[in-house]
Amino acid sequence: VKRIGVLTSGGDAPGMNAAIRAVTRVATNIGIEVYGIYDGYRGMVEGKIQPLTRRDVSDILDRGGTMLGSARLPEFKSLEVREKAVEQLKKFGIEAVVVIGGDGSYRGALALTEMGINCIGLPGTIDNDISSTDETIGFNTALTTIVDAVDKLRDTSSSHHRCSVVEVMGNRCGDLALFAGISTGAEIVITSETGFDEGEVLDRLREFDVVKKKNHALVIISEKITDVEVFARKVSQHTGFSGRATILGHVQRGGSPVPADRILASRMGEKAVDLLMQGIGGQCVGTQSGNIVGVPIEEALNMPAKSRKELQNLFDRLV
Ligand code: ATP
Repeated sequence: VKRIGVLTSGGDAPGMNAAIRAVTRVATNIGIEVYGIYDGYRGMVEGKIQPLTRRDVSDILDRGGTMLGSARLPEFKSLEVREKAVEQLKKFGIEAVVVIGGDGSYRGALALTEMGINCIGLPGTIDNDISSTDETIGFNTALTTIVDAVDKLRDTSSSHHRCSVVEVMGNRCGDLALFAGISTGAEIVITSETGFDEGEVLDRLREFDVVKKKNHALVIISEKITDVEVFARKVSQHTGFSGRATILGHVQRGGSPVPADRILASRMGEKAVDLLMQGIGGQCVGTQSGNIVGVPIEEALNMPAKSRKELQNLFDRLV
């Protein structure tokens, strides 16, 4: 392999730049040329492709977002569209590609590999919703952002006998909510794993107020579970707390990556290049018990979601 491409796809995540930098530096340092493919698979199809030198990736390690831009291109599922992409890659002499994104992006990477372009996937998403890796690039930064915000909310809420209902991202994965719940000492965490029984949550809030005499309650809830504005109004109506909803939204995706994400992205970028140099494609990089591993994408996509029973129990015992 003499020339590889790198792209970012799906939702952006802090640390994607650190991964782009690692891929570029590790490859160019062993004499492999690197091309940046802009705006994900869309840019691949449209030929938005340019060489990346080691200098092009200077000063991006600490930046959030992705210097390559990201996009969604649902049409990439069609063979015809992917054939156009392969044509473009051939035109630029790109033999293999590192794809940084979520599970959707992995499917694209697998499909390209089956068409003769070896691809390696890196888990770039704040949601931590990829089963083949303990942690995804961006998760720790998003968690830090959430914890900072919730700590601030707690300060103001305690003064007003409030119940803060905070909606966090996660795309059906409860990790951001649960990890943030443990980190901030939340009273209640609601995820797709815990389920949501509105009546029961209101009962528990009444108990925190009347029996435990708490002057503040914090509920952290994953997105896509319920309308938190409506739920906060019910808290005001049915408990002694005044319910306030906060939807943290896209601030969770931004910001400078924390050191853990910079290191993870650098290790994973290195592994991606090493796998491609061994002629391996169709794998995604992950950490398992602290070790960097390559896992076949097909296997990764079929793994069951990570169980969080132990952490959920811990959370319950801390309330
Ligand atoms: P996030 O977790 O941030 O949503 P993602 O990578 O899962 O990231 P998707 O929108 O699901 O985000 O996928 C990104 C892109 O990957 C899609 O827009 C599409 O171009 C490509 N893709 C998704 N699924 C497939 C598939 N089955 N075959 C080929 N390409 C796919």
